[in-house]
Amino acid sequence: MKININNIIPEEKINDLKELKPSREKINDVLNKALTLQGLSMEEAAVLLNIEDDETLNQLFKAAKTVKEKIYGKRIVLFSPLYVSNYCTNNCLYCAFRQANKDIKRRKLNVDEVIEEARSIINMGHKRILLVAGEDMTQVNLDYIEEIIRKIYELKIMKGEVRRININIAPLSIEDFKRLKTFNIGTYQSFQETYNHETYKAMHPSGLKANYEYRVETMDRAFQAGLNDVGVGVLYGLTDYRFEVLAQLAHAEYLDKTYGTGPHTISMPRIEPAKGSEIADQPPHAVSDIEFKKIVAVLRLAVPYTGLILTTRERAEFRKEVLELGVSQMSAGSKTNPGGYHEEDSTEQFQIGDHRGLDEVIRELSETGYLPSFCTSCYRLGRVGKDFMDYAKPGLIQKFCQPNAILTFKEYLEDYASEETQIAGQKCIEQHIAEIPDERVKEKLNRQLEKVHNGERDIYI
Ligand code: SAM
Ligand code: SF4
Repeated sequence: MKININNIIPEEKINDLKELKPSREKINDVLNKALTLQGLSMEEAAVLLNIEDDETLNQLFKAAKTVKEKIYGKRIVLFSPLYVSNYCTNNCLYCAFRQANKDIKRRKLNVDEVIEEARSIINMGHKRILLVAGEDMTQVNLDYIEEIIRKIYELKIMKGEVRRININIAPLSIEDFKRLKTFNIGTYQSFQETYNHETYKAMHPSGLKANYEYRVETMDRAFQAGLNDVGVGVLYGLTDYRFEVLAQLAHAEYLDKTYGTGPHTISMPRIEPAKGSEIADQPPHAVSDIEFKKIVAVLRLAVPYTGLILTTRERAEFRKEVLELGVSQMSAGSKTNPGGYHEEDSTEQFQIGDHRGLDEVIRELSETGYLPSFCTSCYRLGRVGKDFMDYAKPGLIQKFCQPNAILTFKEYLEDYASEETQIAGQKCIEQHIAEIPDERVKEKLNRQLEKVHNGERDIYI
């Protein structure tokens, strides 16, 4: 199928829209629409992107917080990345793994080493892994991916196991995506990095990734292969963030219209320092903290049912501020070098900003009113793609997601938490149970919690 890229990313239109300076009245109209949870068009989102005065910014943040809480409650889903290889045939100027960087220690984990890493992640208490690899199909091919995924799912350590493997590897052909789908993966992620043609060309001088169109069409190939659970992203700092947010929304809108469902998640990495990269040390369009918060808030209002992912690239204190604006998933306890959960002898992809272990992150979440969740039940009950979107409506979330989050958090507390975190976590669970309005749901949940306490695992409603 021949795709016209301009239909997906109308660059000229976006360039005009990003300069929009709307009236106060127009901003209020858009915020009011967003509060009805219908989402926003790219044109409406543009109205919010140039807000600068503190008062209106606070209004924007408040609206984002309201929408987030209506849809997701206080739940935050946790995961950790597992880097399996830092070999790469591309040359993204911002990344330590790029082929031309001769100054790094290359490493691809063999199957046993991958399992050892997965073991460490399970022993932290995680149930979700994001498999990540540099783009070199001679190192990381589908046979290897198939084998490691199968072996990770087979791994059982005491009461621990991985229940969902998301994956961020090189874009594939339709045929290969069809094969990937048979591996029982969760979300397939690939980030466009930048939607600006010229910047894209400058940042990706060689390798398969140099082809802008092939990269944009990645999700078309994935959907056409039957994968309907995909994650997209922009690497913020390469070009004007207002352009990127609008282009990201245009892409999401296009996927929704063409395939009946938009992306399941959006990631918003900001460029961090990376070994041997000048661009990463001094990004050409560095995004400030306040701009980053605006990006999160606008995305939350524009695509309210799409998961927003925040990684350990961001500093611990700042993560706290951003969480409330719309984030639904975050990584914790992460390493970005292959083998990093065991030793430090390979180069990491970029510097991370939050070095805390999972236990500490969980404790802070519990103490600040959030509900840490390790839930994977939707996917395992087949509620993905459009089904998931239909499901992610406030009433149903209260009925299923909240209790399931509590059950998986209880598992974590029983099996992995330090004493201090157990106390904070138990209190957190009690507070969230008290907020469940339906007495029958509450009763059922209490019975299930008792079962978890008595050693049963993987129970969901
Ligand atoms: N190699 C695959 C790719 O490029 O899509 C997948 C893995 S790559 C390791 C994951 C993501 O890390 C990239 O898509 C990019 O957005 C991000 N990344 C690369 N360099 C970075 C840096 N210096 N700081 C923050 N994120 C970076
Ligand atoms: Fe390779 Fe991905 Fe890094 Fe680019 S971002 S150099 S493709 S690992």
